This record gives sequence, C-alpha cells and structure tokens, in this order.
Amino acid sequence: MMNGQGRVHPGTAAPAEERRCSWLNIWVFLIFALAIKAAFLTICLVVLLWHSSEQPRALQQQFSEWKCDSAVPQGTDRGWMCCPEGWRRFQRSCYFLSLDQMNWAESEQSCTGMGSQLVVINSKAEQEFLSKQIKQYPQRENFYIGLFEVKEGQWQWVDKTLYNVTAAFWRKGEPNNGLDENCTVIHNLEKTLNNWIDIPSHNKHHRICEAAAVIV
Ligand code: CA
Repeated sequence: MMNGQGRVHPGTAAPAEERRCSWLNIWVFLIFALAIKAAFLTICLVVLLWHSSEQPRALQQQFSEWKCDSAVPQGTDRGWMCCPEGWRRFQRSCYFLSLDQMNWAESEQSCTGMGSQLVVINSKAEQEFLSKQIKQYPQRENFYIGLFEVKEGQWQWVDKTLYNVTAAFWRKGEPNNGLDENCTVIHNLEKTLNNWIDIPSHNKHHRICEAAAVIV
C-alpha cells in the first residue's frame, strides 16, 4: 500500500514541478515589470517637476514686486499663490494684459522674455475669465493668444498643447483662412464667448501672456 502511495510516477511529478516553475517565472516577470514601471514613473515625475519649476523660476527672476493671495492648491500644503504685481491670477496661472501692441512674433518674444508665454487657453473657465478681464479695457480691440497655424488648417498652441476643435472659441465664420491669417486674437468687441479671430501675424495687437503662478 505504502509502495503504491509513495511511488513516484515520472509522468505525474514533472508537471507539478513545471507548474511551480511557471508560477515562479510569472512572479519574477511581474516584479521585474513593476520595477521597470516604478523606475519609469520616477523618471517622468522628476522630469515633470524639473520642467514645471523652470517657468516660475524664470518669472521670479524678472519681477521684484509680487501680489499673493491665500489659496491652497490641491496636492500642496502651502497656502499662497503669487503673481507679479499688475498681473492677474486665475487658478494656477498668472496673466499679463499688454498696453502696447506688437506683431505676433514680437508678442511671443516679449512674453518669453518675461518668463511666460502667449496664453494657452485650456478650458472654458479660462476663456470666460480672460474674456471678462479684457472687457475692462474696451479700447484695446484685439489681444494675441498663443494659437497659430503651422500649415493650412492645422492649428497649434505655443506650448504644444493639443489643439481641440471642440474646445475652441472661434467667432462665427472663423477661422476664415484669409490671406496669411495664421495667428489668433481674442476680439474684445465680440459680445459672446466665441471671440477668436484668425489674423495675419504682421498686424500689431495687444497680447496676453501666461505663466504658472508661484506657490509659496
Ligand atoms: Ca492656460
């Protein structure tokens, strides 16, 4: 009886061994995959933090007077968000509405020279905020924003944010792709929220610059 129970049958023992080995292989593979994923995420996070801290640093170097208000942004334990004096804050961004007028390339250079960029409109809330802000200066008719045409019909934001046609705020009938109309302004005389117009880049207009608010 013992012999019967204790006998090793080569045909039955080997698959059990193989099963253990294959389970071991799966675990090794899973741990290895998780380690790779963790390393990848760490690298992404470091690059992201390094990149996002670039802009505020640049902005901080440009201005000595700042206005801060109490607001605890999600994911931080610090409670002040600051913009340079004269700029306006909305959510995590600071905005500069220029008094002077320049062509599109000069406008973009002027913004980057201050550690910012021509505004990138990411949401309806941001569009509403900006449209309301510029209404305080009805004599300033057009403001350049950071949206331009790479080639006919292909629009791009200055920070490479994906252009989403469903979240665009073109005035009725725009963009009409007139001659050389490859840049965009917010038209202040438009009464609705759909106030973007495509316009030639050599025209001189006001501009809106945007930079990340500095959290302290
Ligand atoms: Ca924005």
